Amino acid sequence: MSSVYDWKRDVQRLLPMRLEIGGLLSDDKTVGRELIFDLDLNSYDDVRRDVCDCHQGEGRICHYCWTFMIAGMTAVDTILRDDFGFQRILWTYSGRRGVHAWVMDERAFGLSSVARQAIVQYMSFSSLKNNKEIDHPVWKRMSRQLKNLFKTRLFRRIQERSPQSLVPFIDTNTLPKDRWVWLRWKRHVVDSLRLILTYLAPRIDSPVTTGTSHLLKCPFSIHPSTGRICFPLPPKQWNVFQPWTVPTLWQLWDEQNRTRAADRIATRRFIYAISTLVSI
Ligand SMILES: [Zn+2]
Repeated sequence: MSSVYDWKRDVQRLLPMRLEIGGLLSDDKTVGRELIFDLDLNSYDDVRRDVCDCHQGEGRICHYCWTFMIAGMTAVDTILRDDFGFQRILWTYSGRRGVHAWVMDERAFGLSSVARQAIVQYMSFSSLKNNKEIDHPVWKRMSRQLKNLFKTRLFRRIQERSPQSLVPFIDTNTLPKDRWVWLRWKRHVVDSLRLILTYLAPRIDSPVTTGTSHLLKCPFSIHPSTGRICFPLPPKQWNVFQPWTVPTLWQLWDEQNRTRAADRIATRRFIYAISTLVSI
């Protein structure tokens, strides 16, 4: 394939359900690629079980566990923009239970595997060994940023379903109704930070980012098991986005012959997603 016209012809001939994007090759060697990130709810199963039972069913998602993805996008996006200065970042829904980030700045394209590994390490909360390392501006900012999300969507839920999970972080002699206030006391700031980031700090699939030849589903591909489309996710929509409402290929197909706008909800959402991608 030597041009975009050849590519278009091949796509029309082969009709693929999904396209995977890898690195730019020259003489079979990778000479560049976008900086990419993959976050999947699978990686959160140990804390996910405190808020719902979705981990027991393949590909299940709910309002509570999707919070982990909102937090992951928020934290990673802030680090990429504020600490590394990247600007051209596209987030997409993976089509099942995760999200992808594509950093398309030119200088991201040329990063070595070692540099990509260092960026992943920089935002890896789970690799911290002690409270001294926690006392760092990156974690303080992330905790501040995610505190409200944790409080409004998860804290009460964890208290109801899995109060024993809070024992390492909170004095459980405190009445449940007073525990959030307890966490806000200045002398408990490290406990509060550890609690919020244990649940919500991003858990990145490191090999996807560091391996420059790793393939990742192209935006607008169809996920093979759910039939859902890999939608772009503009930041303003993260808090209201509901992955279970994303149109499937079958819904779009079913709506093809319907003429009334009210009967073409999935199609309208699909067109809206394309227009937001163009405006990003
Ligand atoms: Zn869930």
